[in-house]
Amino acid sequence: MKAVAPGAWLGLLGGGQLGRMFTMAAQSMGYKVVVVDPGDHSPAGSVADDHLRADYLDATALDELARRCAAVTTEFENVPAEALRRLAQHCVVSPAADSVAVAQDRIREKRFLAGVGLATAPFAVIESEADADAVDARLLPGILKRARFGYDGKGQMRVASADEVRAAFWALGAEACVLEQRLDLELEVSCVVARGFDGEVRTFPVAENAHSAGILDVSIVPARVAEELAHRARDATVRVAEALDYRGVLCVEYFVVRGGELIANEIAPRPHNSGHYTIDGCITSQFEQQARVMCSLPLGDTAPHGPSVMVNLLGDLWAAGEPDWTHVLCHPRAKLHLYGKDVARVGRKMGHFTVLDDDQERAVTTARAIRAKLDADAAAELESQSS
Ligand code: ATP
Ligand code: MG
Repeated sequence: MKAVAPGAWLGLLGGGQLGRMFTMAAQSMGYKVVVVDPGDHSPAGSVADDHLRADYLDATALDELARRCAAVTTEFENVPAEALRRLAQHCVVSPAADSVAVAQDRIREKRFLAGVGLATAPFAVIESEADADAVDARLLPGILKRARFGYDGKGQMRVASADEVRAAFWALGAEACVLEQRLDLELEVSCVVARGFDGEVRTFPVAENAHSAGILDVSIVPARVAEELAHRARDATVRVAEALDYRGVLCVEYFVVRGGELIANEIAPRPHNSGHYTIDGCITSQFEQQARVMCSLPLGDTAPHGPSVMVNLLGDLWAAGEPDWTHVLCHPRAKLHLYGKDVARVGRKMGHFTVLDDDQERAVTTARAIRAKLDADAAAELESQSS
């Protein structure tokens, strides 16, 4: 496929922070980016060269995108597959609708992962009250997850008995769900991979992820696991990309359970929060890599500059107003990224910072210290406002 040269327009469906970071990476390479997002003010829309305020299935907007752009991508996995299919008739679309569809449905996703030989958490499909009643007790305690439209731990409930499975099934809207056995996790890791139109594949270093309340909190890179386990995760991630005949950037999340067994949790068909460290921490970021795939350029080197620690900044930190960013900015090895969202809500991803240090333990300590200062300040400010 012929490379798309800088200066061309690239299209993006979705206006969130992933889209913003993609837009910035593509622009710095000389591309122009047009975003389709229904919101008036969106993180990506506010930095893009153009913003079409329209729904993702709006025919006029999609036709405009197809006419103007050499290639189109998406930044969130719930983008309607029809939109991607429609665009694919006119321009390069990365990733393709069919690969996105696998990741949009936990049932298909789990079957696909098992099909490529990756272990998944033991699970059952729950599509009716009868399924809930007939649940295999060996899957309990478990987690009932809606098959579609879940993110950041939303759309899932912990369950310990058949009665609770039934109640959770109704509470989640009586839609198709998977019941997963709750595993005893030693660690969570993830791996971002890019695969080009010529089949070239490159993985990024494996990240070790800590979650809080179902939302990614901190990523430590390289993951503090045996080299052999990191290799297995990278190999498994390549297998996923190849089996999907994927063109673009994707991330696979894994659980590490006792004995170092790797359990594939889910596929995100896009750059991922656990890959944000690549912006400052690697020769090529996951977002530049996404632009490279779309434009049929050779993939960039994914080698890390050294260890890095990425810390998410959630809206909770804004409870008493804008945080004091000097705590991050005064540190010469910390990089602040704010997404330009106008409203901070609890649990909303507002930004992140990354600490880079040749000494991994020091990077972890520094990141924790910066975060503790931000938290303490916010708590003190809240206290003083309420007194
Ligand atoms: P995200 O989009 O942020 O990745 P999600 O809503 O898709 O989240 P999952 O990745 O399925 O949800 O689960 C969120 C977190 O809940 C996991 O990272 C893990 O910490 C925990 N979790 C999920 N499934 C299991 C399980 N079977 N056993 C133990 N812990 C689990
Ligand atoms: Mg997840």
